[in-house]
Amino acid sequence: MVTFLTTIKNFVFQEPQNKNESPKAVVVLRIACMLFMFYLFCAGIGLLLARYTYMATLSIVFFILYANILYCSYQDKLALAYFMLNINTVCWIVLFYLVFGDGIGVQHFMIALTLVDLMLDRKHPVLVISLLYIIRLALFFGGMRSAAANETEIFLYFETYMYVLSIILEWAIVLFTGIYFTKDAFQMESRLREYNKELHHAASTDPLTKVWNRFRMLEHVELCLKKYRKGEMAFLSIAIGDIDFFKRVNDTYGHECGDAVLKALANLFDGVTKPIGAVARWGGEEFLFLFENMNGDEACAVLTNIQAKINRLDIPYEGENHRVTMTFGLTEYDFQLSLDDNIKQADDKLYSGKNSGRNRIVY
Ligand code: GH3
Ligand code: MG
Ligand code: MG
Repeated sequence: MVTFLTTIKNFVFQEPQNKNESPKAVVVLRIACMLFMFYLFCAGIGLLLARYTYMATLSIVFFILYANILYCSYQDKLALAYFMLNINTVCWIVLFYLVFGDGIGVQHFMIALTLVDLMLDRKHPVLVISLLYIIRLALFFGGMRSAAANETEIFLYFETYMYVLSIILEWAIVLFTGIYFTKDAFQMESRLREYNKELHHAASTDPLTKVWNRFRMLEHVELCLKKYRKGEMAFLSIAIGDIDFFKRVNDTYGHECGDAVLKALANLFDGVTKPIGAVARWGGEEFLFLFENMNGDEACAVLTNIQAKINRLDIPYEGENHRVTMTFGLTEYDFQLSLDDNIKQADDKLYSGKNSGRNRIVY
């Protein structure tokens, strides 16, 4: 029983895939979905027992649509899930109301939906909540027509006047309190998210060259391996590049000149790898390249091009232009091996490139 409850809890509280989405909002959406599903399930049984087979079938359809919304909340489709939650809920409430009138109480779910929207909608809360209230007004006028026969005319006007008045004031109070109260929390949450983003960026970037650091690259490789396991990526190639005789640059022109070389190279790599993979500063003057969805041959062609660019690159420092060469070890990722073993293969090739004369790609 305890493990069952824990499983449900983990299921509901699972973090959204997109780290920029509020985890709380996702939980609100999921719980609302599940409660509406529970209602439709119970309503379906009641409808079946009361022999409203057609409506029972429709309850199942709405139930399945909620299951789909729930599924979307586990993918990176929260905006769609939120939109569908509103459409689906309004549709079945209106349908039930038109078929059974206000006697079965479905109209009260509009208030529940309003509350959920206040918790979820940061962009257009006024518009969405106002729309829900307009639908509630429309439901009242739709339902009133059938009751009209039993009422006197003056009472009918009075009732309409009172109803519209109370709906408008309820709308104003809900909107004011809801938005006024949630605004600060939303602002705080969005500030925290911004701050988190900045922290993650700082923790992922090499301060000198501004390309990714080792930590960020390892995180990204894990993501690529996940894609491979899902069948979204067929190949992956990795290369480690090391500047040739870099110590000499430092010794001859100074450490700052060495830094300028590292920055210029990183800038070049960042530009060329952006559309096809990633680059990170792996160690002092070593860079790790990732070529996504490229087999070894394809990656080798790209790397050859990069190497040609390095050999032509003039790096200005204190009025002089400097040039360097690099040696690369390239390997097509073997998914049967561990990440460390794959990197070791690239490293061994780099080492053999250094031993056989430098300024080359060993593949
Ligand atoms: P090889 O061709 O065999 O790679 O020779 P190398 O001189 O490049 O190799 P070695 O590993 O002996 O030297 C690497 C040098 O890189 C040593 C270190 O001072 C320098 N280095 C490491 N990080 C930095 C840095 O951030 N800035 C500067 N300027 N130099 C760095
Ligand atoms: Mg080195
Ligand atoms: Mg070196």
